[in-house]
Amino acid sequence: MAHRVTLIPGDGTGPELAQALETVIAATGVDIEWDRQDAGLDVMADYGTPLPEHVLASVRRNRVAIKGPITTPVGTGFRSVNVALRKELDLYACLRPAQSLEGVRSRYHDVDLVIVRENTEDLYAGIEHMVGEDAAESIKIITRKGSERIVRFAFDYARRHGRRKVTAVHKANIMKCTDGLFLRVAGEVAERYPDIEFEDRIVDNMCMQLVQKPELYDVLVLPNLYGDIVSDLCAGLVGGLGVAPGANIGDEAAVFEPVHGSAPKYAGQDKVNPTALLRSGVLLLYHLGEDEAAARMQEAIAAVIAEGKKVTYDLGGSAGTQAMAAAIAKRIGG
Ligand code: NAD
Repeated sequence: MAHRVTLIPGDGTGPELAQALETVIAATGVDIEWDRQDAGLDVMADYGTPLPEHVLASVRRNRVAIKGPITTPVGTGFRSVNVALRKELDLYACLRPAQSLEGVRSRYHDVDLVIVRENTEDLYAGIEHMVGEDAAESIKIITRKGSERIVRFAFDYARRHGRRKVTAVHKANIMKCTDGLFLRVAGEVAERYPDIEFEDRIVDNMCMQLVQKPELYDVLVLPNLYGDIVSDLCAGLVGGLGVAPGANIGDEAAVFEPVHGSAPKYAGQDKVNPTALLRSGVLLLYHLGEDEAAARMQEAIAAVIAEGKKVTYDLGGSAGTQAMAAAIAKRIGG
C-alpha cells in the first residue's frame, strides 16, 4: 500500500529542492503518494497567513510530512511557519544527524553524531518581560514530562539504530533546579535501557570535546537552547548547511526538513545543493519503515558526492540542483 505523505515545497529555493526530492524518492521504488500543500510567502496573498489551516489538517491526517524551507517574513507580525508547525503538532523532538561525508570539505572525517534536541520548553518558551527600562527577565521552563519524553526518544532512537551511547548535556552545576531536573530525569530513564551506555556532560565542556574529539560521542540529548547551539556546531563539523538534514517528531506526527533556510538569493536558479533535503528524505524513509530503500538512497547520495562530478557549487562542482538529483537517482537505479 502507498504511503501518503504531505509534501510542503516551501518558498525561495524550496520548490526546486522538492522537485529534486521527488526525482530521487521515485528512483528508490518506494510507493509514496504525495499530498502536496503550499505554505509560506507565496500563499499569504490568498489566505492571509503563511500556514493555512488546511496545510496543518493535511499533516495531522497523514501524520508525516516533508518540507522545503520557508521564509519567515520580517516585521509582518506573522510567526515563523516552522515554529508554528512544531507548536501546533507538538513535535517535541528535533533530530539532527551529523555524519562526515567523503567529498564534503570539512576539518573532520570521522564524525557520526545524532543530536536530539527538546523542541518545546526551556528559554525558547519565550516567556520574558522588561523589568523597568534597563533590565529584562526571561523564564526558563523545564518539566519532568518534557524531559522524560525527549530522553526516552533519544534512547529509543539509539536502540532502533544500533547506537551504543547516549550523552545528556546540561548545566546542572549552575542551574540546579531546571537543568538539575533534566539531568535527574535523564538518569532515571537511562536505567530502563541497560543495553545502552549513558553519561552526561556540562554543555561548555561538551562543546570543547566535540571540537577536539567528536568521535568519542554518539547520541546527544539536550534541552532546547543548548540543542539549538550544539546542533549547528555539529553541522559545522561535517560541512555545514547544504548537507545537514533534520526532523521534528512528536507522538502524532513527524515533519522532515533540511536545517538550512530558503536561500532566497538563489531562488529559481537551479543552483542550490539538494543534499540536506534528500538526507531528510532518507530519515523519512526510515520513519516509514522503508529501511532498505533508505540505506540505498543514503549510499547513492554519498557515492555521488564522493565522486565529485555531478555536485553543486558549494561542494566544488558546477552541476545544478536537478542534475545532481538525477545523478543520485541514476545511481540508486544501479
Ligand atoms: P539560509 O540557510 O537560507 O542561507 C544561509 C547561507 O547558506 C546563504 O549563503 C545561502 O545561500 C546558503 N545556503 C542555504 N541553503 C543552501 C543549499 N541548500 N545549498 C547551497 N547553499 C545554501 O539562511 P538565511 O539567509 O538566514 O535565511 C533565509 C530565510 O530562510 C529566512 O527567512 C529564514 O527565516 C528562513 N529559514 C527557514 C528555515 C526553515 O524553513 N526551516 C530555517 C532557517 C531559516
